[in-house]
Amino acid sequence: MRKALVIGNWKMNGLQARNAELVAAVASGVADETFARVDVGVCPPFIYLQAVAQQLDDTAIAVGAQNMSQHASGAYTGEVSAEMLVDAGCRLVILGHSERRSLFAETDADVAGKVNAALAAQLTPVVCVGETLQQREAGDAESVVSEQLLQALAGLGAEALEQVVVAYEPVWAIGTGLTASPEQAQEIHRALRKVLNGLSAEAADKMRILYGGSVNAANADALFAQPDIDGGLIGGASLKAEDFIAICRAA
Ligand code: 13P
Repeated sequence: MRKALVIGNWKMNGLQARNAELVAAVASGVADETFARVDVGVCPPFIYLQAVAQQLDDTAIAVGAQNMSQHASGAYTGEVSAEMLVDAGCRLVILGHSERRSLFAETDADVAGKVNAALAAQLTPVVCVGETLQQREAGDAESVVSEQLLQALAGLGAEALEQVVVAYEPVWAIGTGLTASPEQAQEIHRALRKVLNGLSAEAADKMRILYGGSVNAANADALFAQPDIDGGLIGGASLKAEDFIAICRAA
């Protein structure tokens, strides 16, 4: 039985005062019984990671980054390493988000490098995959996400795979208000589980596959009820404590 996981991806939103309020509200709103069933994480912008991690220090809420470098250290101006994230109190890192891929030209090879670097630093990689609307309409959704996943996880053994979280985020559903139907999402999650199964049957059974893309308090229940949907990666709705808490409870 996989424990559910709900992660808030704040993207480039929030300033100190608002973050502190949001985090306090989420921490007090997610009751102990929710933590028993659901792991919860929040991913603020780099500059606020340490402050948020300190604020959440005595709670079960994990803190994660939204990106990181695949390099360990050195002359990489503007970059942040896995070891630095751990040092700042992070336990998770979102990798290969479609916004990184499309706006910052991140390739599958970059994502694979980052997955390896995260694992080496004992940071949980949350590997994002997702097809564009055009790819879906061409009937390529399953092959696109399967290939992205295989490339991101290339060379990992069963033990490493078990540390990885996968997030399916159809590009056409991100920030658009268009959510994949629970059936559409389940179909892709099932296909992703099959890909994982081909890598390691034992790991595939344990690995969490999250859905992301316009998840809100009203649609979370039906999505999370699907057998291969193990939680969510939440954008816009994670910026409102009430909505995020409701989504955590639905998982
Ligand atoms: P929205 O929930 O705002 O659609 O964003 C999803 C997402 O990209 C989370 O990583």
